Amino acid sequence: MDCPSLPPLPSRIAGLADLAYNLWWSWNPEARELWRALDLQAYREAGHNPVRILRLVSPEALARAAESPDFLRWYDRVMERFRAETVALDPRAPRVAYFSAEFGVHVSLPMYAGGLGILAGDTLKEASDLGLPLVGVGLVYSQGYVRQRIRDDGWQEETPEALTTADYPIRPERAKDGSPVRFAVPPFDPPVHVEVWRAQVGRVPLFLLTTDLPENAPWDREISGRLYTGDLEGRLRQELVLGIGGMRALDALGVPVGALHLNEGHPAFAVLERWAAALQRGLGWREALEEVRRTTLFTTHTPLRAGTDVFPYPLVEKHLLPYLERVGIPREEFLALGLDPENPGAGFNMTAFAIRVSRATNAVSARHAEVAGRIWASVRTDGEPAKIRGITNGVHLPTWIEPLRVQRLLDRYLGPAWRERPADPAVWETILEIPDEELWRVHEERKGAMLAEIASRARRRWAEGSAGAAWAVVSGAFLDPRVLTLGFARRFTSYKRPTLLLHDRDRLARILTDPLRPVQIVFAGKAHPADHEGKRLLQEVYRAALDPRFGGRIALVEDYDQHLAKYLVAGVDVWLNTPLPPLEASGTSGMKASVNGVPVLSILDGWWPEGFTGENGWAFGGEEVAGDRTAADAEALYRLLEEEIVPLYYDRGPDEVPHGFVRVMKEAIRTVAPRFSARRMMGEYTELYRGALEGRL
Ligand SMILES: *Cc1c(COP(=O)(O)O)cnc(C)c1O
Repeated sequence: MDCPSLPPLPSRIAGLADLAYNLWWSWNPEARELWRALDLQAYREAGHNPVRILRLVSPEALARAAESPDFLRWYDRVMERFRAETVALDPRAPRVAYFSAEFGVHVSLPMYAGGLGILAGDTLKEASDLGLPLVGVGLVYSQGYVRQRIRDDGWQEETPEALTTADYPIRPERAKDGSPVRFAVPPFDPPVHVEVWRAQVGRVPLFLLTTDLPENAPWDREISGRLYTGDLEGRLRQELVLGIGGMRALDALGVPVGALHLNEGHPAFAVLERWAAALQRGLGWREALEEVRRTTLFTTHTPLRAGTDVFPYPLVEKHLLPYLERVGIPREEFLALGLDPENPGAGFNMTAFAIRVSRATNAVSARHAEVAGRIWASVRTDGEPAKIRGITNGVHLPTWIEPLRVQRLLDRYLGPAWRERPADPAVWETILEIPDEELWRVHEERKGAMLAEIASRARRRWAEGSAGAAWAVVSGAFLDPRVLTLGFARRFTSYKRPTLLLHDRDRLARILTDPLRPVQIVFAGKAHPADHEGKRLLQEVYRAALDPRFGGRIALVEDYDQHLAKYLVAGVDVWLNTPLPPLEASGTSGMKASVNGVPVLSILDGWWPEGFTGENGWAFGGEEVAGDRTAADAEALYRLLEEEIVPLYYDRGPDEVPHGFVRVMKEAIRTVAPRFSARRMMGEYTELYRGALEGRL
């Protein structure tokens, strides 16, 4: 990978280069404004990516900015806050190393596929806000994840990420002597070389490894090519680079690792390096492992046994045996750690392994803790069944509360308290004092912005000449700002049941095309490239969107990502969630919607049994039932729409404001923002981190 340079900047505004390479700007509205003020057109063309903005903006525009008193006043103000909020922590203080296969910090760094990655990104941002001694470790995927194109027959095609690594806001990490940090990752023979890059997330460094180096063979360069693709062996090799390579990188950089947090099982091999280091200090294998366990925590994200990586033994032996021998980890004991007692022959199970090498295993909601506890009950450590505690996910509020209107409204009524003490429920009581009319106007404005974004995407596709007329209908030409709008945006996969709403088409058609009180739906989401069933469900939605029976009231927006998510969670009226219980471990998009005053209509699964109060949204069907439950769930969904939500939405006072509906909006913000903020979540993790850093988990 090459590190391209930025064009020269006038010295008065040279700090823009630092700002461009620190993702801090992305959750600080004043900094976002600065990029817009520099050159609005470049900001848009660059897809809100400051590294690209600085390459696109003309020398004349830069010179003008460097002499504009208005710009400079703004610049100085932003830079002062930037410097103050990104002061480095004491480099000798022990760090929590947070390992994850995905990080979703911002669209300019496409290293995520979905919820797991977004959570990792929110974790880093909150750690920065709190000044926690945390560093992130991951991989740079030179081709990102995938972009979605929907063909004229409704089938998803994947196209490569439009950004290249040169566009990412990352830079090669330098050793003390200024040389690049490069080394060979131990288990591979012939060696696989990696180089370490850095993305800066406020105060928190995110170290990213790449194997895309000229000295590696083509198939080794591919190891960090793409997120979650490839065969099992490819995945194993990726996880070895992430885990073992990641620990080596921290060692090479002199980062003092005091504790290890494994976000999902993918990076669990990181433990081997720490185990090996303890062995080298002369401990026996058992004591060495116990020492590692006292400082390791693990977060599991899937309530599905099949959602775990299981590597066939021959593959594990091929890639790991020589390494284990060299560092002195006993083979039988290592293999026993990855044994799933319920599928002993299947291979090395990464979740079982991560549970056994961690003292604390966390699930991502209370319900998930119960389900995961049941699934993994047979995985024992020292004779004890795995104890899995729930730390329910939360979302980073400055990222997910819409900045232009909603954050300003909060600033006006709640003051700085909501930024300073977001997890304090008392702070949010003041929401009730916002006049209904004011909150409603803000929401209408956000809805308009979302519809404009959807229209501009459709127009761009049309102008490229790559879309037929049908696409114009599917992509939202008939959407109407006055109509109650449901949003369904998430990965297309069968357990999320994107087509539950389509179950009884006649009834749905009546709901959508009611002449006085119509309803429209915006769908968005990618199917995993290998998920044929997910693609089929997407196609079903596409066909429904074209079905004249639904009157053009169903839209499907292409290429769901973090950017589109921000428009949707603040712009629809009701956020829909229909997974098959108990398979939604947490779900965070409903939290993002709620904190913007968009109430949730959801199955009681994941976080919603904890979040639902009876007044802050709508709930149905959480119990686990045997047999096909589709009809019963669809019935409950239609009834809630027909009997409660539609009447409430269209019940307007003389001022045209739906006061009853606005009450639910306010309750959504008031009750969800404090409890499901990343601040509350990180408070719970901080307790564990403290224990881990002191070696007493
Ligand atoms: C929040 C988010 C997700 C996760 O949402 P779920 O509710 O867990 O499905 C996935 N993708 C993007 C782009 C997001 O912003």
